Amino acid sequence: MDFETRAIHEGQEPDPTTGALTTPIYLTSTYVQDAVGEHKGYDYSRVANPTRTALQQCLASLESAEHGVAFASGLGAVTTIMHLLNPGDRMVLIADVYGGVYRMTTQVYEPKGYVFDYLPAAEFDELGSHLDERTRIVWIETPSNPMLNIVDIEKAAEAAHAAGAILVVDNTFATPYLQRPLELGADIVVHSTTKYLGGHSDVVGGFAATNDPTIAERLLFLQKSLGAVPGPLDCWLVLRGIKTLAVRMRQHCHNAHAISGFLERHPRVEQVLYPGLPRHPGHAIAAKQMRDFGGMISFLAESEEEAAAFVASTKIFKLAESLGGVESLIELPARMTHASTAEGPFAAPRNLIRLSVGLESAEDLLVDLEAAFAKVAAGTHSVRTV
Ligand SMILES: *Cc1c(COP(=O)(O)O)cnc(C)c1O
Repeated sequence: MDFETRAIHEGQEPDPTTGALTTPIYLTSTYVQDAVGEHKGYDYSRVANPTRTALQQCLASLESAEHGVAFASGLGAVTTIMHLLNPGDRMVLIADVYGGVYRMTTQVYEPKGYVFDYLPAAEFDELGSHLDERTRIVWIETPSNPMLNIVDIEKAAEAAHAAGAILVVDNTFATPYLQRPLELGADIVVHSTTKYLGGHSDVVGGFAATNDPTIAERLLFLQKSLGAVPGPLDCWLVLRGIKTLAVRMRQHCHNAHAISGFLERHPRVEQVLYPGLPRHPGHAIAAKQMRDFGGMISFLAESEEEAAAFVASTKIFKLAESLGGVESLIELPARMTHASTAEGPFAAPRNLIRLSVGLESAEDLLVDLEAAFAKVAAGTHSVRTV
């Protein structure tokens, strides 16, 4: 069945006891057993819950995966995957990795003896020469957050495998509608379902999927043993979001195309980072491995002051962290989502603005941005600080 059909039906048969069309929110911590150990697959909700099972099956199917594991947050998924490593093991990450992952590697795991190296996206062509026998995991985001860098997933998987490592792809920006890393050779795909998958800025969640039975078994073991599990209501919200993922992503992409073109032509913009633009260095690879280019756009203002003034001047684009919801958001990564990278060698540029383009009318969004540029130019922007 096609993606859109599976998004609505996979793992979501009508409820066997009542016929309820929509998957119930199974608000229960425990399950009655007929005799010791005799139950219907559920004994305790940290281990398994039917609403969570539905989400795991549906999302695994969308990622072309056999196995899916849901978590309480994107970082809950990441930290669980980190437990595939042992102290002394090495991991190579894309340099502009999500700020929260960078904070985790530098401030939580590095002090415990894990080894992390950060490779700029442009150097992934020579990924193989940066791997050694201690390297267990290669970790990429593509498109990356917030620089919208692109990495060739197929090539990264080949290089990782040749060195005896596995490839993990954070697919939060693209979603499985636009890109399916496991089909391109990745071993694990990871998500913050807080973003496009939930899609309505009303839930925090995470997810990982794989086709490797050994990794799947270990992740399921770690899910129950470490306990970073999502509650049934959270699972239900993500399941509901996924049903409209395809139509939402089409509109996110449509709006982002219009806005990226507008920004590229604007005299107050230094540079636009959007893989859909032909001059983006990752455009050809993105066109090869993605169905479309997504709803995230970053751009460089002329100065840090101008960037701060701009994000305080839009009306429809709300100044907020996070992304992937129906509403358009604007932020300064260097001082907000990626503040934890500020002291490191891969800090986000201070004049960088990141847009999460929502589902409002593209025309209204363009008018909003144009008005903000005019306010900044006239010096009449509010002095709201971030
Ligand atoms: C938000 C995000 C995360 C972390 O997810 P949470 O749900 O906030 O814990 C990880 N990776 C990327 C790319 C993200 O945007």
